[in-house]
Parts: sequence; structure tokens; C-alpha cells
Amino acid sequence: MSVLVVGSVALDSLETPFGKRDDALGGSATYFSTAASLLTNVRLVAVIGDDFPEEHVDMLKKRNVDLGGLTRVKGGKTFRWKGKYGENLNEAQTLDTQLNVFADFAPELPEHFKDTPLVFLANIHPELQLRVLDQVRNPKLVAMDTMNLWINIERDRLLKVLSRVDVLTINDGEARLLAGEANVVKAARAIQKMGVKALIVKRGEFGALFFDRDGSVFWAPAYPLESVFDPTGAGDTFAGGFMGTLAMAGATTGSALRQAMVMGCVMASFTVEEFSVDRLQRVTKAELRTRFELFRKLTAFDTVEIG
Ligand code: AMP
Repeated sequence: MSVLVVGSVALDSLETPFGKRDDALGGSATYFSTAASLLTNVRLVAVIGDDFPEEHVDMLKKRNVDLGGLTRVKGGKTFRWKGKYGENLNEAQTLDTQLNVFADFAPELPEHFKDTPLVFLANIHPELQLRVLDQVRNPKLVAMDTMNLWINIERDRLLKVLSRVDVLTINDGEARLLAGEANVVKAARAIQKMGVKALIVKRGEFGALFFDRDGSVFWAPAYPLESVFDPTGAGDTFAGGFMGTLAMAGATTGSALRQAMVMGCVMASFTVEEFSVDRLQRVTKAELRTRFELFRKLTAFDTVEIG
């Protein structure tokens, strides 16, 4: 199965307690595609300006990402995001957002993208997410991401998107903000009542929780890394691993969803080891397999007779 992603392709300026980097390759759709392309065919819908380095486009091409939906606007500037992390690496502080070519972007899907079975609406303006939803035909599963910016300034449109998708991926701070509820479990239940069938709450170094439509909950831990260098893109990478696994499994059953959760955490654990997609780009299938098995061991235990 193929996966379609619409989201940002960006140039990021990042500052973490461990270093700084300007104009690094970033964007929600970039992280997603780099991860998912290790597992399946990816179709990307996004926009860039003429300042976007060709070498980044080549990197995605080499990974067989279908760039039929990537528009380069002549005379336009690429979307830019500037972010900083303090001691708490789970929370990015946005210093600057320049929408640039995203301000006037109206995604038009190439004809062969419209029947993609798995669709991921990565973090972008909810209006653009809706435009993509209006063009796809009978997808098997649609997932979406969002951020505090849209929760604060585009709540109504965001709720419209929510009511039309199967799975929302959201980090815990954003879940609390959206639901107006401090407890993550209560927040998740409240968000399900807003219309989304299932949701994944990403909790940084504490892993991710999946709240299924039947009320059941599954938890996937984060890999216990000794050094987290740059958490940017961990959420989008998670989504790439998650959707890529569903595509590979060709199913959205409970067990496929659980494997997908673990693979999401496996992928994200590589992204945070270096700036940008530096580490993720180099990940091999063998490394993925090894870390996936380590995850199994992380939570495996025997049954002890009690009493
Ligand atoms: P994450 O760390 O997974 O939340 O995602 C980080 C990526 O999101 C960065 O590479 C940014 O370029 C991108 N990003 C930040 N703000 C926005 C926004 N308002 N719209 C779209 N993408 C964004």
C-alpha cells in the first residue's frame, strides 16, 4: 500500500542545549517521508520556494518518494521555522514562523495520488488539510497531526478536519490545550467526543499512548536513549513509522496498529540522535529490526503466581 502525506517542507533554524543549526532541512512532511520511505511508497504534497536546495529534493528522490505533488514556486521563499529547546527537550519553543510560499498554497493532488489508501495530513494549516481531504477518494485510513498554533487560532476549522479523520496524532501539551483538561486520559476521551475515532498522544521521552475507538488503550515506550540531541521532527517521524507499518501490513487491525505504534517510536528514536534528518537518513532496515526487537525486550516479562 502507498501512503500520501501533505505537510510542510521547511528550512529550520534550531537551537538545543547541545548546539545550533541554521537552514537545516525540516518540515513535517520531510520527516514523515524520510521515515515512511524506509517501509513503503510515499507520495508527497507540499510547496517550496526557489531558495530550497536541490540536494534535499535529490535526497527524497533517492528514497523513491513520489514528488509529483511537490510544487516549487518561482520567486517564492520556502517555509521557515525557528525553534529552541531548553532543559525540557519535550517542549519546543517557537521563536519565528515564516509561512512564505505556504501563505498562498492550494494543494492540487495529481490524479494518481487521489486513490492512495493511507493518508496523513501532517501539521499544516487546517484549511489545507481540508482541501486534501476533499480530493482523496475512499481512503482506508486517514490520520492527522496539528499543533498549538492551529488549536489557538483556527480551532473551528481544526474541529472540522478532526471530525473527518480516523486517527489524530497529537502531543500531550497540545491534547491538554485542545481539550482544556489537565489529565491526559481525560483529555484524550474529550477529544474523541469531538469526533475523531482514535487518537495517539505523543509524550516525548515517555513514549506514546493509543486510544482506540473501542475504548482500549495501548502504550508504546520511547527508547531509553542516553543522549537526545535534537527532538525536532520526532512526532512527524513517529507518524511516518506508524503509517509506513500499516502500509506494509496492508491492514489497520488492532495488532497492525500496535506494531505501527512501536515502529513509530523506533523511528523517532533515531531522529532525535542528531540534527534534522541527519541520522534518520542513514538508518538501515537492519538497524530498524534490531531496535524493534530491543523494544520487545523493554516491556517483556514473565507471569508470576501471586498468593
Ligand atoms: P515536530 O517536532 O514533530 O513537532 O515537528 C517539527 C517540524 O514542524 C519542523 O521541522 C518545522 O519545520 C515544522 N513546523 C513548525 N511549525 C509549523 C507550522 N506552523 N506549520 C507547518 N509545519 C511546521
